[in-house]
Amino acid sequence: MRVRAAGWVLGRVLRRARLGDKPTSAVLAATLMCAAPAYGIELQLPIDCVPGKTCFVQNYPDDGTLDGDGIDYACGGATYPGHDGTDIRMLSVESAKGVKVLAAAPGIVKGIRDGETDHLMRTPADRAAIAGKECGNGVVIDHADGWQTQYCHMHAGSVRVHTGDKVEAGAVLGEVGQSGETQFAHVHLSVRHNGEKFDPFLGSALKTACHADGKPGAAQPLWRADVMAALGPPSTVVLETGFTDQPVGEDALEEGHGQVAPFQGRSPVLAFYARVMHLLKGDRVHLQVSLPNGAPIDQTTEPMTHAKAVKVISVARKRGSGPWPAGRYAGHAEVLRAGAVVTSSDIVATLP
Ligand SMILES: [Zn+2]
Repeated sequence: MRVRAAGWVLGRVLRRARLGDKPTSAVLAATLMCAAPAYGIELQLPIDCVPGKTCFVQNYPDDGTLDGDGIDYACGGATYPGHDGTDIRMLSVESAKGVKVLAAAPGIVKGIRDGETDHLMRTPADRAAIAGKECGNGVVIDHADGWQTQYCHMHAGSVRVHTGDKVEAGAVLGEVGQSGETQFAHVHLSVRHNGEKFDPFLGSALKTACHADGKPGAAQPLWRADVMAALGPPSTVVLETGFTDQPVGEDALEEGHGQVAPFQGRSPVLAFYARVMHLLKGDRVHLQVSLPNGAPIDQTTEPMTHAKAVKVISVARKRGSGPWPAGRYAGHAEVLRAGAVVTSSDIVATLP
């Protein structure tokens, strides 16, 4: 926790923070967590998933820019310039199927869009095709006191509310999809107050987050306390690890495991991958595979030359003349930052 929070504060975005006091995780937590809600709105989780297990915050709102980069509410870089909402992602298109999008607070449906195609954006032509409809299939809800929430990228044909409907907090609005401007399956939640874009982690308008010394401003989150704790602070996470019969790419994993061939006794290659979210400049990823016999595979990447929202790292070994030996294959992945392990993940596969 301490390392991760400090890592974000000391990341590429805020080099100036090195010159001043380093906020400890306790100070950061107190700043971000302890403020009582000051507004007439409290937001629930807008998607039916378990943060940190089945879903993850891929992008936080951008609260301003320094050196052209985006800044998240904790003064790190887990966002991109101009991002005005919170992206809660599923691991893949496959695992997002049927996952419900939920109203974050009670209100009246102000507008909907449905019927836009589900398609992960990969090319300039893809981007051109969704121009003017970047939200894809979506819902806008008016809440009390000038608050408004917007839900984007829902599955085609899944929107099940209508303009004028009264909805309670937690009401099902539709399902997670890949419509509009999206490169991964997620729900994007925007929050506005009297038309002004808000960061729900700070409880303030966008672009007011970080002081010149690199510390977060005072926060009065709009999220319910348990949701705030589940969605933050931004951290580096191994989303998943796995064994396959050839090195896999990010595009295949975004689609789902149906696109990935599993490791088997006759596989020409044993590959082990780790898919990591929110890598910082300078991070290294260490992968290790123990086999039933023979030397382990052990590899550490060069330091990252720049931060990366998601990266897949793989190691592989070719098969010899016979099949792979039966037994236990153990994979270990860890992210190293300034000599310390900030996060790790293990997986075991047994070959009969
Ligand atoms: Zn977004």
